[in-house]
Amino acid sequence: MKIGVAGLGAMGAAIAARLIEVGHEVVVWNRTPEKAKPLAQAGAKVVGSPAEVAAQSEAVITILTDGKAIDEVYNGSNGLLSGDVKGKLFIEMSTVPPKVETDLAPKVRGKGATMVECPVGGSTTPARNGQLLGLMGAEPDDALRARPILEQLTRRLEHCGPVGSGSAMKLAINLPLMVAWQAYGEAFAIARSVGWDPKRLLDLFVASNGANNGLKTRADMIVTMFQGKDPGPATFTIANALKDLRTMVETGESLGADMIATKAALAGFQDAVQHGIGGGDGSKLSVYWAEKKK
Ligand code: NAP
Repeated sequence: MKIGVAGLGAMGAAIAARLIEVGHEVVVWNRTPEKAKPLAQAGAKVVGSPAEVAAQSEAVITILTDGKAIDEVYNGSNGLLSGDVKGKLFIEMSTVPPKVETDLAPKVRGKGATMVECPVGGSTTPARNGQLLGLMGAEPDDALRARPILEQLTRRLEHCGPVGSGSAMKLAINLPLMVAWQAYGEAFAIARSVGWDPKRLLDLFVASNGANNGLKTRADMIVTMFQGKDPGPATFTIANALKDLRTMVETGESLGADMIATKAALAGFQDAVQHGIGGGDGSKLSVYWAEKKK
């Protein structure tokens, strides 16, 4: 199948590589063109605008930073919806407020195309290996149409309800993980006073009931950072996590919920970004708070 990917950030690039691997003809575009080079080497066709991606694809996937990026990539003058897209399928996978997706869906439908949202759980390695957790929001027939593609990207695909429900579920499942990075930082601040070497300390945390999967998969990175060394590239950034926490607080409060733990974590991430580590991996937040003094 001819599948387009508009936006080749950490997740978009991994998804595009996965689609090539499973045999699709993949057309790609990214605002910053250099990021398309590895995909071109892997066999993707690189084009110059989102409009060209849509023109040359039967289905188009987007996974972008936020609502502003989605607006520019879909509704810009050379955007995905600027040409004739009748009959095409758009799968929007970003982590954004539900309203961004529910505002986009009628614009896509107004052009005679189909819109499915499918934000995902899991980071770049699961994306590369087709092991994401997919949280689809779509009309039943549209969900059926998107399913064969999404099943090649996911280990589990849930149809949550109409467009908007996938985004709400994504924010909900990610919330405990984000709050936990702040909690681990504060926990490490206490535990490090005992004087263990970082490897022994992280082994203990990973063996405890408080360890979530994020900590388990990034324990080695955290050890490396405590040793003062470079942990390698970020798989999800502190800046993107801050954006997600803001969305969680806004969405929860709009539903009348009191988001006290999420707001505290938001303040922790905000402080880290203000201290210049927004581009660091989310796990670096814990190292930052473990080492920070009042
Ligand atoms: P990323 O590496 O920062 O990539 C963001 C992408 O959005 C890039 O392609 C970027 O283009 C593009 N973009 C941003 N603003 C734009 C604009 N105004 N116009 C056009 N393109 C724009 O982020 P990511 O980690 O792949 O995350 C993407 C989305 O997936 C986010 O919503 C994130 O919350 C979600 N997510 C991430 C993970 C993860 O582990 N990384 C997991 C699940 C969900 P440039 O390259 O030109 O900047």
